[in-house]
Amino acid sequence: MEYLFGPVLSRRLGLSMGVDLLRHKTCNMDCIYCELGRTGCLSCRRERFVPLQELLQEIREKRNEPFDYLTFAGSGEPTLSQDLGRAVAFAKRTVSAPVAVITNSSLLVSPAVRREVAAADVVLPSLDAASPAVFQKIDRPAQGLKIEEIIQGIKQFRREFSGEIWLEVMLVAGINDHEADLIARVAESTEPDRIQLNTVIRRPAEPVLPLSEEEMLRMLEIFPGAELIPDWDWRVPADISKRILESLSSTLCTLEEICRLHHLSSIDAIKYCKILENDGLITRRIIEGKLCFQSSKDRAAETEQAAEK
Ligand code: SF4
Repeated sequence: MEYLFGPVLSRRLGLSMGVDLLRHKTCNMDCIYCELGRTGCLSCRRERFVPLQELLQEIREKRNEPFDYLTFAGSGEPTLSQDLGRAVAFAKRTVSAPVAVITNSSLLVSPAVRREVAAADVVLPSLDAASPAVFQKIDRPAQGLKIEEIIQGIKQFRREFSGEIWLEVMLVAGINDHEADLIARVAESTEPDRIQLNTVIRRPAEPVLPLSEEEMLRMLEIFPGAELIPDWDWRVPADISKRILESLSSTLCTLEEICRLHHLSSIDAIKYCKILENDGLITRRIIEGKLCFQSSKDRAAETEQAAEK
């Protein structure tokens, strides 16, 4: 059983190695925009969902793989796992990359959960509403969850946590955009290091609509100091694509070499390689713990030669 997934290209975290402490779609909310589909069983009960020792062993085995963040996320709300604290603390001791936790913020009201999450380097809580009515409409929470208490939980977490907090606000057309002013004021009052605005991009649980690009840009006036979560431009500039493919035509390069050769930041290099990989032009390999790329033709030829031996 695999409890780690990726590394995947995350719009917020670059190359992210995910850790999934849950069984599929375990959550205390049933957000209308959720890309995992509907939540079958809404529950706020913290439980053990996967064998902890096996999960820790997998973290140990993958600790040298290249990634920018080890990220607790996955099949629902990670704070519902009663093993979160032990797993995050273990990851901090074991992995050199920073550790991130993505949460819907609901359980930050609990001092125990705040302590467990605070072992991470970066916490990415979300806040989609400022009023109870919009909270019900967009997040469809489990019984007993109250938006006022969740906001207090985020504020209290800020007082206790000295790491980075990147607060995500998901904006859905006609659902919560009319209270953007209020959400902006509340978001600001929780004093995050960054406020990141998002809209529906992946297939949502319900047929809801994203805000347009112009509307998202207008949101930046309502949320001063916020940033838009970047949407990848799924094209590689022609000259860069040509240069990368040429450099990989007969040799294999590490990601660092690709950055150096083509004067690219690691995030751009990852992004471009991922797109070329999706297009079937290059192939990734992990060699001695390093992320490398080579042309797909070379890789196919190697595999063929190996099969003939
Ligand atoms: S909190 Fe996250 S996992 Fe849970 S329903 Fe909402 S978007 Fe999906």
